[in-house]
Amino acid sequence: MDAQEWIQLSALQHYAYCPRQFALIHIEQVWADNFFTAHGNLLHERVDSYESEQRGNTRYERSVAVLSQQLRIRGKLDLLEIEGKSSTQYFPVEYKRGKPKREDWDKIQLCAQALCLEEMRETSIEKGALWYWQVRKREPVLFDERLRAVTCNAIEGAHALLATGKTPMPTDKAKRCSACSLVDLCEPAAFRRDRSGAYVDTIFLELRESESNEN
Ligand code: SF4
Repeated sequence: MDAQEWIQLSALQHYAYCPRQFALIHIEQVWADNFFTAHGNLLHERVDSYESEQRGNTRYERSVAVLSQQLRIRGKLDLLEIEGKSSTQYFPVEYKRGKPKREDWDKIQLCAQALCLEEMRETSIEKGALWYWQVRKREPVLFDERLRAVTCNAIEGAHALLATGKTPMPTDKAKRCSACSLVDLCEPAAFRRDRSGAYVDTIFLELRESESNEN
């Protein structure tokens, strides 16, 4: 299997947020830090520096490498809580700098971690959690059928986009661009202007053609 066909778990969040962002980073290899990404990196460095430990019946493993051969995804999860000895229960936890979101972007990454663990350890994982630095809150996430389907769609979509090697047009959701670290490199406003310019050109072309047919 070609090593390039693997997708990083963190890249799924990029794809879910904006396929163009995914393509710019993972196809064109473009990257730019902004305050949010720099702060997120610092947070992860700090989380990664903690040691694994045993507390009571629970083992806390940090920076755990995981992969799924079937889905061709791999990466690291921040924290894995392993509870019990005879019947082991796994509980993945991912740290995020911001706050809980209505959209599934962060949940997709966490669910993909669970899919990797399920394949590697031949188990089933019911839930995990996202821990948000900004609000110091741990949000439980249920790996239900809906989230699993959304996650698998994102994995398939990311693989398909990677295979084309092409960067799609900017998202129509302009609000996302204002929080995107790639906004200066992506220039979504210029693309949108070009698109509306092309639309106006088409209208004038059609008008000119209908006028010349009438004459
Ligand atoms: S600036 Fe907007 S369109 Fe461009 S990559 Fe970011 S979110 Fe996507």
